[in-house]
Amino acid sequence: TTQTEANLIGKNEVLPIYKPREKYSHKGTFGHGLIVGGSYGKIGAVTLASRSVLAVGAGKVTAYTPKCGYIPLQTAFPEAMVITDADEEKLTKIDFSIDPTVIGIGVGLGTDSKTIIAFENFLKANKKPLVIDADGLNILAKKKTLLKLLPELTILTPHPKELERLIGSWKDDFDKLNKTKAFAKKYKVIVVIKGANTITVFNDKLYVNATGNPGLATAGTGDVLTGIITGLIAQGYDALQATLFGVYLHGKSADILIEEFGYQSIIASNVIDGISLAYLDLF
Ligand code: AMP
Ligand code: MG
Repeated sequence: TTQTEANLIGKNEVLPIYKPREKYSHKGTFGHGLIVGGSYGKIGAVTLASRSVLAVGAGKVTAYTPKCGYIPLQTAFPEAMVITDADEEKLTKIDFSIDPTVIGIGVGLGTDSKTIIAFENFLKANKKPLVIDADGLNILAKKKTLLKLLPELTILTPHPKELERLIGSWKDDFDKLNKTKAFAKKYKVIVVIKGANTITVFNDKLYVNATGNPGLATAGTGDVLTGIITGLIAQGYDALQATLFGVYLHGKSADILIEEFGYQSIIASNVIDGISLAYLDLF
């Protein structure tokens, strides 16, 4: 792979993707996102991702967490429904009776051996569209045979360390992109290489995001991105549209926020609140 088409994704590119709301819509029109993750001390990751699902416009969200997530989630985020595992501190079985539109999995999940087995069994049974982040990616990197269980067009959102665990180390940026392209092609997935210039890799194409700034270099912003992309798929955007639009909105939110608050003090919750401003900025 030497020849690559690279596309810059800014406002002009996402405007045609945007779907306006119809008057006669109801919450069922905008789908139901399920966020699976969390472990003792990392329930906040699920809270941030779940809030982002609704903040980007999905109709409903359910969080699936260990038992210890129940009260914090219901308290911090009353709009969410919560289902809990039998275990207090980690996921040991990923089993639910709801019928979500899409599943975002991995944030705050941890890599306990029981959680790894639960994740593996989940992948074997799952037929829903997936967004996989954080420890979901780390488990895939540990057990590479699981990669062939992913539904086509699964979205993986690694930061550089997670990407290295998945594809191995690289010599330079060119080598990194080529290795990521080969990986994306082999497993028929979309890979979002997060960082200062987030690049989405799919089907031999590269999409370079034009928004975002170092204000995003803070805990929890990755969990917000997972929720945003999950929430866009819930409401009917296809996998590539949801990825490109989601990465754009996430960065744009931060771009608008730093105008007023500067880089240092933005936290991930602010980026969720800024999603509305990023939408309003489109018009
Ligand atoms: P994570 O490392 O999983 O928490 O994800 C961090 C999020 O913040 C990703 O969406 C990154 O693209 C974004 N991010 C982190 N650092 C920067 C930066 N210096 N400039 C722009 N975006 C960044
Ligand atoms: Mg992360």
